[in-house]
Amino acid sequence: MSNHLFDALTAYIQDQEKTFLETADGECLTYRNMFARSARYAGALHKLGVKPGDRVAAQVEKTSDALMLYLATIRAGAVFLPLNTAYTPTEIAYFVGDAEPSVFVCDPANADALAGTAQKAGARLQTMDAHGEGSLRNLADSMPDQFDTRPRDADDLAAILYTSGTTGRSKGAMLSHDNLSSNSRTMAAYWQFKDDDVLLHALPIFHTHGLFVATNCLMMAGGSMLFLPKFDLGDVIKLLPKATAMMGVPTFYTRLLNSEAFTGDLVKHMRVFISGSAPLSAEVHREFSIRTGHAILERYGMTETNMITSNPYDGDRRPGTVGFPLPGVGFRIVDAKTGREVPQGEVGIIEVKGPNVFHGYWRMPEKTAQEFRSDGYFVTGDMGRIDEDGYISIVGRSKDLIISGGFNVYPAEVEALLDELPGVAESAVIGVPHPDFGEAVVAVLALKEGETFEPEIVQVSVADRLAKFKHPKMVHVQDALPRNAMGKIQKTVLRDQYKSDFS
Ligand code: AMP
Repeated sequence: MSNHLFDALTAYIQDQEKTFLETADGECLTYRNMFARSARYAGALHKLGVKPGDRVAAQVEKTSDALMLYLATIRAGAVFLPLNTAYTPTEIAYFVGDAEPSVFVCDPANADALAGTAQKAGARLQTMDAHGEGSLRNLADSMPDQFDTRPRDADDLAAILYTSGTTGRSKGAMLSHDNLSSNSRTMAAYWQFKDDDVLLHALPIFHTHGLFVATNCLMMAGGSMLFLPKFDLGDVIKLLPKATAMMGVPTFYTRLLNSEAFTGDLVKHMRVFISGSAPLSAEVHREFSIRTGHAILERYGMTETNMITSNPYDGDRRPGTVGFPLPGVGFRIVDAKTGREVPQGEVGIIEVKGPNVFHGYWRMPEKTAQEFRSDGYFVTGDMGRIDEDGYISIVGRSKDLIISGGFNVYPAEVEALLDELPGVAESAVIGVPHPDFGEAVVAVLALKEGETFEPEIVQVSVADRLAKFKHPKMVHVQDALPRNAMGKIQKTVLRDQYKSDFS
């Protein structure tokens, strides 16, 4: 038996001397180095007692060593569990306690604070710092650069990713070897990645976007990466001329547009810009096209399902839409109550089935059962609609739906109008308790730098464009909207902030 995922990721490598990744400070790893270093890390994990099926948890900075740890975990037959670097020791105690990894790798600066957590969960604690150095590298350095990659089947687990969990406890999404390999093979083909591609990689690698969409997709094509520790505007602008493709969250694109150094000439040679993980406003999409001549390719997916839809590579990439279901992905939009498919054009809940869909939540069989229909479709919790040409739009999470006076208000529809107002950088529309209407529509705006804004303009602009029940009853202007590490606006924070607007 082969190792399903590692074999798939390395099947397209033609030339081992080719660059696998290059970092901003000049470190360069060929594919040959990748094989050797991931072998040493896999040897280190084995030495620490990691067996196939064990979990390896890591809360470490983004480095080439951290990426090697991911590949090494797969080669050792274990299950990779990356953790957001922003999590506090209390949060980490929950994840490590829940997943019971056999090895837990953390930053040396946190080692004392996390030693008890690791011990309680039965995990060997190892360290890795922002340069990749620490006890795990020391051990890996003493290992051979060959490793007998462990056999793993398509359905064996490759990773557990805890979902951001805006409500309730975070859930660990169990992703199999085939979930990851089938989806990245589909993406690489759909977006036409080839071995001469150079991907600018500035996303974190504790999340599905940076770890799987970007890295796996690129490896499936045998291409190269410019691997940056984070999105630094200066570094990105400096390196774009060397890249052919970039993947990012929408904030990457707004930050680029805010810089005068970001010109059409700088990116004339680029093949594709891809956006996902949060809605890209139609406004930003258009501005980007005007500035660069490139239509950003927006796609949609989630941790549990990998990528679900994408705008076409060849063809019209429509602003404000996420395109069509990817090949092999079963996709439908249903009525939340009846579970029946809604007619084209109507809003409903998105449900998905296919080799991309995860194997359930770690140690939560009941929660898992609740989220699947009897015919195997997974209920995403996102609401969307399909237009007459088949393009899909996301109108928001079902929990963000506002019901005001008995009418449904889809935040994305109101936000699209607010985003167009002069001076507005971005908007979030939320529902807050209201004594008459149950919920009232409230708009929260962040302005472009140096702009002022009269909130009354909102009423004037929506007056003849939106039904009265969709009009914001209150408008707040603040410096910035609260976001998580992936650039998603945290509406729960805003709802809490403005919950007393009408009481
Ligand atoms: P995560 O599991 O952290 O990747 O978050 C997945 C969620 O992000 C989805 O369920 C959507 O609500 C949202 N999302 C991802 N991509 C898009 C997109 N292109 N447009 C709108 N929402 C998106």
